[in-house]
Amino acid sequence: MAARCWIAAASVVVLTFAAGEGRALAQPAAPFLMGGVATAPGTTASGDLKVPGGAGDTGTIIPFTVIHGTRPGPVLALIAGTHGVEYPPVLALQRLRASIDPRALAGTVVLVHMANMPSFLARTIYYGPKDGQNLNRVFPGKRDGTLSERIAFVITAEIIDRATHVIDIHCGDGNEWLRPYSYWVVTGAPPVVAASKDLALAFGLDHIVIDTERPSDPAASVYLANTAMTRGKPALTAESGGWSRTDEGSIARIERGVAGVLKHLGMRADGPDPVAHPVWLGRNEVLRSGFTGLLFPHVEPEQTVAQGTLIARVTDFHGTLLEEIRAPFAGEILYVVATPPITKGEPVGFVAERAAAPPALPTSPPRTGGR
Ligand SMILES: [Zn+2]
Repeated sequence: MAARCWIAAASVVVLTFAAGEGRALAQPAAPFLMGGVATAPGTTASGDLKVPGGAGDTGTIIPFTVIHGTRPGPVLALIAGTHGVEYPPVLALQRLRASIDPRALAGTVVLVHMANMPSFLARTIYYGPKDGQNLNRVFPGKRDGTLSERIAFVITAEIIDRATHVIDIHCGDGNEWLRPYSYWVVTGAPPVVAASKDLALAFGLDHIVIDTERPSDPAASVYLANTAMTRGKPALTAESGGWSRTDEGSIARIERGVAGVLKHLGMRADGPDPVAHPVWLGRNEVLRSGFTGLLFPHVEPEQTVAQGTLIARVTDFHGTLLEEIRAPFAGEILYVVATPPITKGEPVGFVAERAAAPPALPTSPPRTGGR
């Protein structure tokens, strides 16, 4: 298994050089420079990336930690807090900062402790408090854009462009009850798609959504993890926890996932094995409310539903039924909105159908640099 992992890592290295982004590789003999902080080989150091101010705001910071190994290897970026009320990823990274020993590490781990500081401090779900935008819909960002767009721009330039592998760690937002799962994006360059599949298996969540609908244009990548994919870097979006909770199980699951990836990439000798028998989820749909009002969920995550099963009811503010939302096909409930406020067009839940097997990987020749 270790030999296969090194082959995967080596193929990524070739891709990265081909894309003219050789600086993405760690230079373990030299300090790793980020945000004005020089992290020496075999040490851990922290700092803040600065997001400049713009119209109506003074900017923000993105706190990070670099764990710089003593031997060559990948640059693995782990990102928490893209959504501000998703706490287990944030707390898992606090623990990983202390538990990953740089002296036993090949390559470099970059921890982004809080991607979306404005949303975290204001405790806003989905949207940034200054601009009403979803950070995970504005990538790759704009240098002179809204605050969310400027945050995305800094993450793209300073984190994603310097990494060889990217994991964006989420959970159900403050209003969402969720079962653990991950997304495997299959719309990138074939070698990147294949390496991303291995990343998902190594992270160990046993439900994996096969995502066929991410854009392939690096200038309009929309999502954080997809920004890495469109730049030729294997990536993963993982989900563990939700509903504003800080439960031990959700935090530990993320720690275990990172340990599996470190082993898979050959960055650390020990770690858990990849998930052996994942549940691949093919056809999937985010169910949305047609009305603004009160939401009453009728299902729970991990529940299997038949076509037509009642997922939720929506009433107006006087109690009159407006809508019954039913499963469009048989499948598994991955998350459901579990608090009463609902606005027209917002998600109510996410249902996905079991696939018999993962799709065959694309067979077209690899595109240099994944672009
Ligand atoms: Zn999220």
